Amino acid sequence: MKNYSVLHIWELCQIYGSLSKQEKRDFYQHKCYYYQFFVKMIIVLSCIVSTTYLIADYKLNGNTIMPTLFPRLFVLVPLFFYIILEAKARSYQIKVFLNYLMLNLIVFTMVWAVYHLEVKTHFSEAAAIMNFIFLICCLSSSPLSGILGYSIFFLEVFCSHQVNHYENMDVILALNIPCFVTIMLAHCLLDLGELDHYLTSKKLEQALITDPLTTTYNRHKLSRMIQDNKIINEQMPISLIMLDIDYFKKINDTLGHYVGDQALRYLGEFLMRELSEIGIVIRFGGEEFMIILFGYSSKKALEKAEYLRKRIQSADDSPVSFTISVGVAAYNGNFKESMNAADAALYHAKESGRNQVYLDCEFTY
Ligand code: GH3
Ligand code: MG
Ligand code: MG
Repeated sequence: MKNYSVLHIWELCQIYGSLSKQEKRDFYQHKCYYYQFFVKMIIVLSCIVSTTYLIADYKLNGNTIMPTLFPRLFVLVPLFFYIILEAKARSYQIKVFLNYLMLNLIVFTMVWAVYHLEVKTHFSEAAAIMNFIFLICCLSSSPLSGILGYSIFFLEVFCSHQVNHYENMDVILALNIPCFVTIMLAHCLLDLGELDHYLTSKKLEQALITDPLTTTYNRHKLSRMIQDNKIINEQMPISLIMLDIDYFKKINDTLGHYVGDQALRYLGEFLMRELSEIGIVIRFGGEEFMIILFGYSSKKALEKAEYLRKRIQSADDSPVSFTISVGVAAYNGNFKESMNAADAALYHAKESGRNQVYLDCEFTY
């Protein structure tokens, strides 16, 4: 459990300020996808509940329901379209836009119903209640969208005043302006809390897929890529490389595990430096690495593997001198088959004397 203090909130403000445009977009997208379902349910519920104002209308209009029946029930029409469009919307900006649009359409039907009421003063309470739903909408949106949503709300209040001539416009404003200010402040605070949660979960997620010794990815990353069809969906040529340190056991046995670890870290950092822009480096097990190269035909991957082998063989900044054996195979659409092919090529490189690169010729592109 974290104990938040004002200082912590200030630090979060600074972190928020240092985020790039893209990072802010990612954050709001994450926030929207996390809370949107709940926000949508509450909007749907509010629309349905707003029709029960007919009971209050019945009392205010002298025991008749007819004048406000149509505007009160009309809210169900935009609600129907909201449900359909929200489900179809892919981008979080559109989802947020639809939330605020629906919110303001509820206000519109309220204003319309008030037009048919003999006593219009109670609009002040109804408008104040709307603030609760504005507060809920904060959960899936940015403060800027909140301000835009509110400006339409106030616009509706002012425009409807021209028609409804509220006797207590001063009360309406006196109730809603402090609500607006408080909700916008609450929106910013909730955003900071959510940002903290988002950054922590991102760090945990990164730790889950990273090998702490070598800084490369680990097998969780591979499982996730296979699960998400990240490799299968790619159109470009892909190659797989299996790479293993030669006689690594001897390094451990003669120089100790600490030096062995240093060599592994050196190799991991070297591979990340060389390949992180063009592919994915995964510590597959012990001293064995798998590399997935995107946009690389097996011929190009073979050249790259040969380059890596030579660089490692001639490295003068390595904690201990060692060599690697490498197996290369083209990705043929079936991950398991391609992995086995790269593994077989590595086995062949080992069998042929180590410190070699071998290309599996079955699927060559
Ligand atoms: P080959 O050339 O056939 O690959 O021989 P090798 O000695 O490299 O292969 P082998 O599979 O026999 O040995 C791998 C060794 O790697 C055994 C294991 O103790 C060691 N190892 C695995 N993980 C780690 C690690 O995280 N740190 C250290 N220091 N050693 C590790
Ligand atoms: Mg080895
Ligand atoms: Mg091995």
